[in-house]
Amino acid sequence: MTFETATNSTSESAFSDTMETACNGCGWKHPGRKCMLKSHPNYNNDESTSWRDSTSGKLLLAKGERRLPWDKYLQDSNSDTFTKWTKAPEKPISKKLKT
Ligand SMILES: [Zn+2]
Repeated sequence: MTFETATNSTSESAFSDTMETACNGCGWKHPGRKCMLKSHPNYNNDESTSWRDSTSGKLLLAKGERRLPWDKYLQDSNSDTFTKWTKAPEKPISKKLKT
């Protein structure tokens, strides 16, 4: 008995609405889009570690941020004060968000 390999399955079939599409670097979900927060001071550079398990992810979660904030960053891990990130890229507009 042979099993056919799933060569003709579309990439869409792998997606579900859970955490696995969250970017390891920033914690945001942007499947298929390259991470715009790579230059963020708190970016998780360890690509083998998921955002939630990363040093930055845990640190920011402790400060009340579940993902990399777009317009601010944590300069001092011992501080609760965020610094404005002046070099932040323009945030892409999500179609799901109502303005
Ligand atoms: Zn990302």
